[in-house]
Amino acid sequence: MTQNTDLNQPLFERAKGVIPGGVNSPVRAFNAVGGIPRFVKRAQGPYFWDTNDQQFVDYIGSWGPMILGHGHPEVLQAVQAAVLEGFSFGAPTEREVVLAEKIRELVPSMEMVRMVSSGTEAGMSALRLARGYTGRNKIIKFNGCYHGHADSLLVKAGSGLATFGASSSAGVPADVVKDTIVLEYNDIAQLEEAFAKIGHEVACVIMEPIAGNMNFVRASVEFTRRIRELTKEYGALMIYDEVMTGFRVALGCAQSLYAKEIDGFEPDLTVMGKVIGGGMPMAAFGGRREIMEKLSPLGPVYQAGTLSGNPIATACGLKTLELIGQPGFHSELHLKTGHLMQGLKAEADEAGIPFSIDWQGGLFGFYLLPELPSSYHAVMKTDGALFNKFYHGMLSRGHYFAPALYEAGFVSAAHTEADIDRTIEAAREVFKTL
Ligand SMILES: *Cc1c(COP(=O)(O)O)cnc(C)c1O
Repeated sequence: MTQNTDLNQPLFERAKGVIPGGVNSPVRAFNAVGGIPRFVKRAQGPYFWDTNDQQFVDYIGSWGPMILGHGHPEVLQAVQAAVLEGFSFGAPTEREVVLAEKIRELVPSMEMVRMVSSGTEAGMSALRLARGYTGRNKIIKFNGCYHGHADSLLVKAGSGLATFGASSSAGVPADVVKDTIVLEYNDIAQLEEAFAKIGHEVACVIMEPIAGNMNFVRASVEFTRRIRELTKEYGALMIYDEVMTGFRVALGCAQSLYAKEIDGFEPDLTVMGKVIGGGMPMAAFGGRREIMEKLSPLGPVYQAGTLSGNPIATACGLKTLELIGQPGFHSELHLKTGHLMQGLKAEADEAGIPFSIDWQGGLFGFYLLPELPSSYHAVMKTDGALFNKFYHGMLSRGHYFAPALYEAGFVSAAHTEADIDRTIEAAREVFKTL
């Protein structure tokens, strides 16, 4: 079955006339895989339909938020009720308090929570808070982790510790990134070396606990434990960026999984987004009370937002968190995601294609590599041309994965075993063509 891209093509041309690259976020443009993006008309459950009314099984789910699938009836109802009460007030509402309490109940390390409108904003604010709290400037991040597009986080790895990272975007002055140090993910020796040299100047270490922006790379337990020990020893904060993993890999987020392995493990601050808005613009950051109390209006670290804690977004997020809190939700999702991954792997093995997989809850990653990578360099060894062929093979059969080999995938509660079997069946055909 080949898809008719007739209506997507002219729409993309029109879009390119008024929107840079035709898209409002770069990965949507399909630059990595080539071809024409699918313009979405509507979505329901695990599916969306493009402008040609072609149906796709959606393994992106808005890059994570749609953990219940699209248009869950109870979420729709909560949003519709909220809309009738008003769009935005610029004044506090009870629902923000209830949502913050709910987040604290599920993630005890978040003693206090501040809501914002995007993961970028949450990450940027958490960094400012860490710097304000510690009175230090330097921050450590890891190569291949994404924390939104705040200036000081748009940094590529330098050639060594002596050289500071270089900005990865035009428009970011070298001065702005001079305090950002980029280290390799899962490299304990390099981390120890960095702390030995500059540990007393470090405000925070920010990391994705499972790096979903390198597809799916877990931080090793040992690496995580060392970060926690060193940040404590040197008086730096540990920031967990759970924008992607939060409420998706487990109800208690990725930190609950690492807490099972590391006694008493907790990050100092956590950044959340995606699932907590259920598809609405909503994100948050939170952590220890004494740190959070440094935020304005209580403390000297300024942070604000006209639409922060928006009443419709909080209604959507709150209902989403309530529904995913039902017993067994994440274990069922984990089994289903595992079925998809193991099914794809079996077909790849059958066809003699190198393939490695990992997953947790409703988040997955697969690589056209014989072994799971543990760093950005290893991820980048993937054969891009082979991935693109696989990608377009699946797309033309109506299975929509992330259009780039370094992005994770998402399964929702609405995906049925039959949907997953169809995807595995399609993959069998596609692997034969590689
Ligand atoms: C998506 C994402 C962000 C950025 O969130 P936006 O809402 O797109 O600004 C930050 N960190 C991680 C880990 C993400 O996956």
